[in-house]
Amino acid sequence: MTNEEMWQAVLGEIELTLSKAQFITWFKNTFVHTIEQDCIIVNVPNIFTKEWLENKYKKTLLNSIRKYKPQVNRISCLINTGEKPPKKIDSVADSPMPSVKYPASASPIREIESASIKPNTNFSPAYQQPTTNAPLTHSQIFSNYQESHLNSRYNFDNYVVGSNNELAYAACRAVSDSPGNNYNPLFLYGGVGLGKTHLLQSTGNRILKNHPHFKIKYISTERFANELVDAIQNNQAKEFKNKYIMLDALILDDVQFLSKKEKTQEEFFHIFESLYQLKKQIILSSDRPPKSIPTLEDRLRSRFEGGMMADISKPDLETRIAIINSKLTEKDLELSGEIINYLAENIYHNVRELEGALNKIIAIVQLRNSMPSVDEVAEMTKDVVSSNRKQNMTPKKILDAVADYFNIKTEEISSKGRKRTLVRPRQLAVYMIRSEINLSFPEIGNLIGGRDHSTAIYAYDKMEQELKQNPLMSDAIKIIKDKLIDY
Ligand code: ADP
Ligand code: MG
Repeated sequence: MTNEEMWQAVLGEIELTLSKAQFITWFKNTFVHTIEQDCIIVNVPNIFTKEWLENKYKKTLLNSIRKYKPQVNRISCLINTGEKPPKKIDSVADSPMPSVKYPASASPIREIESASIKPNTNFSPAYQQPTTNAPLTHSQIFSNYQESHLNSRYNFDNYVVGSNNELAYAACRAVSDSPGNNYNPLFLYGGVGLGKTHLLQSTGNRILKNHPHFKIKYISTERFANELVDAIQNNQAKEFKNKYIMLDALILDDVQFLSKKEKTQEEFFHIFESLYQLKKQIILSSDRPPKSIPTLEDRLRSRFEGGMMADISKPDLETRIAIINSKLTEKDLELSGEIINYLAENIYHNVRELEGALNKIIAIVQLRNSMPSVDEVAEMTKDVVSSNRKQNMTPKKILDAVADYFNIKTEEISSKGRKRTLVRPRQLAVYMIRSEINLSFPEIGNLIGGRDHSTAIYAYDKMEQELKQNPLMSDAIKIIKDKLIDY
């Protein structure tokens, strides 16, 4: 078995436990460089992949590699910098999360002014302005910022990173440090109020900080569609398009609203193609992955999936506490630990609601000049307390969510297919239907394509075993469960 064959087999195994977005993000463009004694050296495209493979995925990778190469005990990643020969990066300076701090309160203008103004090496000759290398005047900087429709309230410093959003965060950092180069387009997806807009805006703000010459635009898909309709009515469709293809970076929020808007999809496709050809950065967000956006043209879908996709799920308890504390610090306020815990423990579906509840309490504290009791807090926030929401678990929804996670069709779970790519999701679906809604095994057997109850029991036991050994599988269950809760 050659190293390459071995790597393909290892990736084949790992792919079975990850969502498509995770797999593509971390394992696309990786290959074995060499195996030297007990160390396997893997070529990876960037520092982020290096960090994740050497840390988060190390154990899973080693377990799998050892089946083929028992002598291997260590993984080391080499960053393959495109044209240049692979180069090893070990220094701390290459950390993916540089501790560049700028105060959250800094005005965007001050922020941009204080940034070193670098020539924009990303300009294609056709767009190069004679003034590109000259320092920008304050009014040029201000006008660039205004045109961008960015909001300085959002930045990476006031975004709390947890396991629910670390992939999306890392991707946005990478894009903001090197727009147009690595992850293009960048597609973020996740439920409402989980911080997509915050990340998109932070990315835009940082790109503009690093490249004050850049023409950037942040726009919601609904507004983009409305502007297009106006432009068409006023015979200005061409001007509309020209305005967009001039950009250095386009940030389009909530692209699920492209659904059923044929004309907008068509115009956007051409804008996308022009920008993409010129290596201009495109950043998109959606409340669901591209394949779940109904009536999205195939050509757009495949382009959205062709760059980097990163999902954001619900924050865990620790992250929710950190978010509350970060908002309190920002407002220079304090609340009792009891109240903070109550909020973090009880509002877990949505950061926007958590923030809303927090603001309500802060307002009361300021008004009364005293801390409310936890009972009062419970009363004030009862409409957003998550446990008052109903869980949305039906067998069909579990099947759909599992299929969605593994990027297969729901019917394939109940098909006769015995491929590993189907068997694993099937086992997981059985496990979840049994453990979440306690359906009987004969009923579960029926659901997964009229199989015998013994098959369902076998699948359940297999998954139970697997969960003990494979932490990635528990992560998968957590993510799938998150998606099954009603908003
Ligand atoms: P989405 O676009 O996904 O619906 P938003 O980006 O509008 O969500 O986030 C909703 C609110 O929650 C915003 O005020 C945002 O600043 C805040 N928020 C979300 N996630 C985080 C986070 N990880 N850290 C800090 N604030 C967050
Ligand atoms: Mg949003």
